[in-house]
Amino acid sequence: MAVNLKLAEVPPREKRLKSVLSFHGSASELKQKSEDGTLSAKDRSFSQCGSCSSCSAFTLNAIIMDSAVVVHAPIGCSGDFANHNHGRHQGNRHRGLPSDNIKAICSNIQEKDTIYGASEKLRQAIREANERFHPKAIFVNTSCASGIIGENIDSVAEEMEEELGVKIVPIYCEGFRSKIWSTGFDATAHGIVSKLVKPATKKEDRIVNVFNFQGTHSFTGILNKIGLEPRYLFPFASVDDLEHMSEAVASTHICETLGTYVSAALEKEFGVPEVKAPVPYGISWTDEWLRELGRITDRSELVEQVIAEEHARIQPKLDDLRQKLGGKRVYILAGDSFVHSIVSSCRSLGMEVIGATAYHHDQVYDSDYGQINSLANMISFTGDVDNYTVCNIQPYEFTSILKDLKPDLLVVRHNHVATVGSKLGIPSFMVSDANLGIAYDGVIDLGYKLYETIRTKRMIETIAKHSKLPYTQWWSEQDPFYFEQGGK
Ligand code: SF4
Repeated sequence: MAVNLKLAEVPPREKRLKSVLSFHGSASELKQKSEDGTLSAKDRSFSQCGSCSSCSAFTLNAIIMDSAVVVHAPIGCSGDFANHNHGRHQGNRHRGLPSDNIKAICSNIQEKDTIYGASEKLRQAIREANERFHPKAIFVNTSCASGIIGENIDSVAEEMEEELGVKIVPIYCEGFRSKIWSTGFDATAHGIVSKLVKPATKKEDRIVNVFNFQGTHSFTGILNKIGLEPRYLFPFASVDDLEHMSEAVASTHICETLGTYVSAALEKEFGVPEVKAPVPYGISWTDEWLRELGRITDRSELVEQVIAEEHARIQPKLDDLRQKLGGKRVYILAGDSFVHSIVSSCRSLGMEVIGATAYHHDQVYDSDYGQINSLANMISFTGDVDNYTVCNIQPYEFTSILKDLKPDLLVVRHNHVATVGSKLGIPSFMVSDANLGIAYDGVIDLGYKLYETIRTKRMIETIAKHSKLPYTQWWSEQDPFYFEQGGK
């Protein structure tokens, strides 16, 4: 479905991208079924845990430097403030910035507000955010409660924008609208591109928009080598950076799940080309990504030279890592496209990917470019994955899978998942900084971290001996896909 910024809300991924939350088979089977239109969107009959779009939206807009966020919700929906505050402090430290807190307020919708309306509370919260933080823009993130009672956020935003003279950006991210929490990333992108981005008055022919979370600045080195500069977005960017995204020479990202909606929107509305290549994880994907950037920015000759130099430069370390990691059996568990990126990196390191779990699967993309289909790229560049599942972090499911497959290493994106690996005696590495594996140096950095993790085997086995999984005998005897198949 094409991006439509005229809509106040971005349609949820289930509708836009035919996203699904369950599948088991091989990666090529999933690709084939997605292309044929024969993949059924089955719901589990039991769900152990989940997340919500509101949290994902907040992940992207809570750390925009000179803005504030009003979460129009009951206080419980703001339980993630502390987590994001920690992220901000950590990010400030890495960037040498003074320590400060996130600038967020919850409007605290209560029971009687759901009967009489909560618009006045929203106005008060926006005034309070303006007075406390003096932001250049205020995001209003919605919630299940504000959505269910039909709060007219657009009209309050217009009214308050006039009163305060500050941009107010509604972000429609009610948790109940989508079971795919990545819809929240799209919601923040939709609000920013439709309300903040200005048409370009000049072109910055060295600037590349890099959509990421809040990781290290690992795009800088490789982009500088071809005469380009990254502008890291959205976390830790300024409102001014957001307003001028349209001036960039291209847009790229760390992960299709995070970055393709905003990239497609910028290309469609402002003519900023999206880099139509796999993301730079793994050697062959980095080559392709650089070549596409070279084509867009008219630097193809320089790019070929840089690729040759970089290959030669990292070869000794790559040989060393392939010798250390070659044939190690790895299982990978992460968000949809990020799984494919880690598979690409691990295969560049000579590891055997024995299985992977993606938290959801988008059957189509917001643009028609085949080059950004990360599942197809993973298969065509690096090969199939036989044990491939789609599962929105249901620990019982991947616990059974891991017990069965017994990998040498588990690579995950989120900390609470890594502990399951440790309890099973499997050395587990959490890619907490999603920018870690970027480009050629990223493959090497990731490789040495994975090697160090594998070397913890004896310690992890000791931990496992003293750990207990919470499942009874009954759970252990079930097929991992029992609830996917409708089990009671
Ligand atoms: S699912 Fe709804 S109620 Fe729960 S945290 Fe998200 S917005 Fe709040």
